[in-house]
Amino acid sequence: MDKVKKYIIDTSAILSGRINISTSNYIYPDSVINEIKNGSLEKILGVADINIQAPEKKYVEMAVNAATKTGDYNVLSNTDIDVLALAMEYNGTIVTDDYAIQNVARQCGIEYSGSGIEPIKKSIVWKYRCTGCHRIYDKYMDICPVCGHTVKRYSRK
Ligand SMILES: [Zn+2]
Repeated sequence: MDKVKKYIIDTSAILSGRINISTSNYIYPDSVINEIKNGSLEKILGVADINIQAPEKKYVEMAVNAATKTGDYNVLSNTDIDVLALAMEYNGTIVTDDYAIQNVARQCGIEYSGSGIEPIKKSIVWKYRCTGCHRIYDKYMDICPVCGHTVKRYSRK
C-alpha cells in the first residue's frame, strides 16, 4: 500500500505559481495538462518529470453525481470533474483556488487546500434567482419558466 499522501493539482494551482510543480506526490489530471498546453503557458510546466493521470470512468461518474448534488456541476469544466475524480480515486488532497471545486470537495469529505489564497471554510449553498421576476430556485436553469428571463446563481450564506 502506498502511504504517501497524494495531491491532485488543478489548473488554478499551477497557474498560481505558488506550488513546486515537480513535487513527487503531486498528480496532474491529463486534461489539466492539455488545458495548459492549449494555452500559452506551457513554459510553466517546463520539462518537469510529472505524474499525469486520467481518472477511471467510475470515479468521473461519482464526481459528476457529487457536483450535481451540490449544485456546482453546471459551472465545473470537464477538467474540474477530473480533478475531483482523481481525488476520489487516490483519496488525495485537491490543491485548487477554484471555489466551486472546493465546495464539492468539502461536501464529499475530500480534503482540499488553496495554493496560497484562503480556501473556503463554509459550504456554499447555491440558489438561483431570476433577473426578471426575482423568483428564487433551488436548481439550476437557464431561463425562468415563469417570465423567461435569465436565471443567475448566487450563494446564500
Ligand atoms: Zn422570472
